[in-house]
Amino acid sequence: MEQRKGRRLILFPVPFQGHINPMLELANILHLKGFSITIIHTNFNSLNPSSHPHFTFHSIPDGLSESEASSKDILFLISVLTAKCVEPFRECLASLLSDVSEDPVACLISDAIFHFAQSVADSLKVPRVVLRTGGASSFTVFAAFPLLREKGYFPIPDSRLEEPVAEFPHLKVKDLPVIKGCDSEEYFQLADGMSNGTKSSRGLIFNTFEDLEEQALGKIRQEFPIPIFPIGPFHNCFPAASSSLPLATEDKSCISWLNGQAPKSVVYVSYGSIVAIKEAQFLEIAWGLANSKQPFLWVIRPDSIHGGSQWLELLPNEFLENLNGRGHIVKWSPQKEVLSHAAIGVFWTHSGWNSTLESICEGVPMICMPCFTDQMVNARYVSNVWKVGLQLEPGAERGEIERTIRKLMVEKEGEEIRARSLKLMEKANLCFKQDGSSYQSLDGLVKHILSLES
Ligand code: UDP
Repeated sequence: MEQRKGRRLILFPVPFQGHINPMLELANILHLKGFSITIIHTNFNSLNPSSHPHFTFHSIPDGLSESEASSKDILFLISVLTAKCVEPFRECLASLLSDVSEDPVACLISDAIFHFAQSVADSLKVPRVVLRTGGASSFTVFAAFPLLREKGYFPIPDSRLEEPVAEFPHLKVKDLPVIKGCDSEEYFQLADGMSNGTKSSRGLIFNTFEDLEEQALGKIRQEFPIPIFPIGPFHNCFPAASSSLPLATEDKSCISWLNGQAPKSVVYVSYGSIVAIKEAQFLEIAWGLANSKQPFLWVIRPDSIHGGSQWLELLPNEFLENLNGRGHIVKWSPQKEVLSHAAIGVFWTHSGWNSTLESICEGVPMICMPCFTDQMVNARYVSNVWKVGLQLEPGAERGEIERTIRKLMVEKEGEEIRARSLKLMEKANLCFKQDGSSYQSLDGLVKHILSLES
């Protein structure tokens, strides 16, 4: 570890798994660089300080009612948190800034989505640096929403889904990062807030690397008047201890099950921490997996099927009886450990940014089945730009699923995709070597933070 720098960083994550994981990984990286770390977190999905004894934690009341806190509507939750957290956050930050018994605060680092943190930071005269936990390519699309709206892309009509987006040649209209049926004013305001709040900040950190998203990073550098720091993949730099929320206990049984499988034979299926699917789609997935004849490890969260059914109630006896140990189902896996296991051949993912990066870092080809927001952009880049995976359309039926799995696992097309995945993995691993792009960018970030004045 580097010598303590006598400076403190205050970090403020958005309380969802895909946002907390990278923020905690970043905290660990910056702690290794000599900063003391204080984390402000909401009561909702609250963090467990005992898992991170080297950090100081402060919990703020978020004012969510019980029914609000149990909502599965992510946009609603973010909107309520954004409205209710402002004052508690301001009070907590003000009291931390006035505490002279601790190291002086160098800056606040907060999630791009909590854009209200910018005006709070301005009013308390503390510099704010933004962490965007999603990819740079999708960020450029969010930043272009005002232009895309002006050009009439939204709401997206079914007749235009397959058209290319002139402003983003890699994307089709159906890849634009919205939540289907919910591209409301509120959603666009959130995206504008994220983009404008970031423009007023003192720097932008990405969990990505130059070689992966060079073009998008170049565009952001032109459009955002602040320094940009692509210092990912974070977990490659700091293999963090588990940062799963208390709601999700990692089921390690899958590792012993994987130990008994042949190399590169298993399809790992997980749709992250938020996505939920319809019963009919769930059954198609089950039969597609069974008919592919490949072994599979499937993460089925208890809340991942619409309508609240549990998988055991839904899967027919015929399916369960014929498995013969060929499938293993868990509620939550130690995903990074799973992806690094020699038995994994393919990752069937919802294309969340963390899952995408984790797969890239292990050279595991992907089957992408995106559901909403940036997942569609990530999936398009995986399948058409980096060409390290294939896409399945939402609502894919068992025959298509079976064909896609076999294409990737056993056919010639799959061989080429696997070879490209390994090449991309090498690039991901090089960027943290001395003089690699993320290594240098991290050095730049540390210097930048130390140079910030309120
Ligand atoms: N994850 C995990 N176990 C699981 C499923 C997911 O540890 O069974 C982790 C995964 O490694 C990733 C995060 O949860 O770091 C999910 O983030 P992502 O951005 O992929 O998707 P989101 O949950 O935000 O939709």
